[in-house]
Amino acid sequence: MSDHKRRQNETNPDHTEKNGKSLDQKDFGKYFDFSNAVFEENDEGKNVMKIGGRSIVVNEPPNYRQGQRRRRKEVDFHYDFSVPEQMKQIGQGKRYYIRTYGCQMNVHDTENMAGILEELGFTSTDETADADVILLNTCAIRENAENKVFGEIGHLKNLKLEKPEVVLGICGCMSQEETVVNKILQKHQHVDLIFGTHNIHRLPELLHDAILGKEMVVEVWSKEGDVVENMPRKRAGKTQAWVNIMYGCDKFCTYCIVPYTRGKERSRKPEDIIHEVRDLARQGYKEITLLGQNVNAYGKDLEDPSSLGKLMDMIRQVDIPRVRFTTSHPRDFDDELIEVLAKGDNLLEHIHLPVQHGNNEILKLMGRKYTREQYIDLANRIKKAMPHATFTTDLIVGFPNETDEQFEDMLTLVEEMRYDSAFTYIYSPREGTPAARMEDNVPMSVKKERLQRLNELVNRLSAESNAAMQGQTVEVLIEGESKKNPDVLSGRTRTNKRVNVRTSKDKIGQLIYAKITNVKTWSLDGELVEYSEVQNA
Ligand code: SAM
Ligand code: SF4
Repeated sequence: MSDHKRRQNETNPDHTEKNGKSLDQKDFGKYFDFSNAVFEENDEGKNVMKIGGRSIVVNEPPNYRQGQRRRRKEVDFHYDFSVPEQMKQIGQGKRYYIRTYGCQMNVHDTENMAGILEELGFTSTDETADADVILLNTCAIRENAENKVFGEIGHLKNLKLEKPEVVLGICGCMSQEETVVNKILQKHQHVDLIFGTHNIHRLPELLHDAILGKEMVVEVWSKEGDVVENMPRKRAGKTQAWVNIMYGCDKFCTYCIVPYTRGKERSRKPEDIIHEVRDLARQGYKEITLLGQNVNAYGKDLEDPSSLGKLMDMIRQVDIPRVRFTTSHPRDFDDELIEVLAKGDNLLEHIHLPVQHGNNEILKLMGRKYTREQYIDLANRIKKAMPHATFTTDLIVGFPNETDEQFEDMLTLVEEMRYDSAFTYIYSPREGTPAARMEDNVPMSVKKERLQRLNELVNRLSAESNAAMQGQTVEVLIEGESKKNPDVLSGRTRTNKRVNVRTSKDKIGQLIYAKITNVKTWSLDGELVEYSEVQNA
């Protein structure tokens, strides 16, 4: 073996030999191609590789196989996060910009990154042109989400040419993918930093290396995951807050990349969650949303097992006016939770219950582990306990082998459930998932046509549900100015319907009552009703 080749293998034990056979059986040649890299040592003795003109320090590359591993090993809880003293000044006089793609989990991760950056002395900016550090917090759920990020990385190249000292970092779910990191290494060498979803708490050290070194820094942990408490956090709002109750997902739906990018299901301890919720109540927050990819699995993995029902029953007693939760998996939604939700008060009567499909064969192929009948039975039990509950859902059209008849089953289910609204998606094959090995055999034109029919139905049901609200008086939490008209304020009902009200700005962040005067497909218009009038009504 040549010296050069030996050095490659020492640096990256998973390195693929030229004929494509992996040293640890994995075919990295397909994903992570270091074959054109030259390895050397930098001044600090770290291994550096050179691809094209760019020097790259790979502390740890992503590893899909490790990402999907699930062992019995206990989760480690860390309470010792702190910013090293010598790094506290690295952001003095500098600005940061974070662009967030994807779900609420990413939005919440961005809050942690912003918190860390502010402890490093950075202040935020809304303009990439003013920023010294730009982070793209990415989403991998569908191909078009990834394409958007690559488009943005491309745009930012001009900015980097003008201001080479700007640090451009890529983080979030896409960073956990070997193919993505490889593409950045090979084709987007103006990127300076890549880190993943498991090592956000390492941001101070990684940024320090990216700012002071000339090399691109890559560190993506693919461990199953720990729980890191007490990270600094800069919350995006003052009225509503996200509260993570668990991380990761063990459901492994056959189409979904989340279990690979977010690690195994691991719950935060109830006492840590209650502490955070109490703290938010003290600060005057009016609404919290408990977050997790599969919140109904909450507590099962804890040393002292718990459940979402038990947790919500505790949170019910905290003086915070509104509590939501997302996302539910129908399979784990149990009667204990229904019983607790039926107590109402601050537990809101809106259930987001992703069904994905209405046909049993497709549900089986998707690995959802429930049937259409079981889903409807669950929804009926919820409706019986909470007659005013509204339902929303997620649906995927064009899954491999989906026939016209099977698609019709989706439509009949949607009609039967009378969802208030739904997130509807065209199936997108995600490399490394079981579904991606099935033939993606529904033509795009058919997928689009089905999506359009589905959306028409969802919109009709949404309009009908809104029409039934005409003249009703509802509680609205005012979130801020309407995006379309700053003279109008906008908020949401307990059942998550958007309401626009013309009232004074001091109502922002307040719970008010509004009488619905006009209904549209996706929103309602209302006028302020004084509290005393509601009491006397
Ligand atoms: N954990 C949640 C659940 O089980 O419903 C949702 C997680 S995912 C971030 C949000 C939605 O993206 C899913 O409910 C699903 O409808 C959609 N999705 C996930 N993978 C997809 C794929 N490969 N193609 C299209 N849509 C997908
Ligand atoms: Fe993805 Fe299924 Fe987990 Fe939801 S439950 S995150 S769809 S694997």
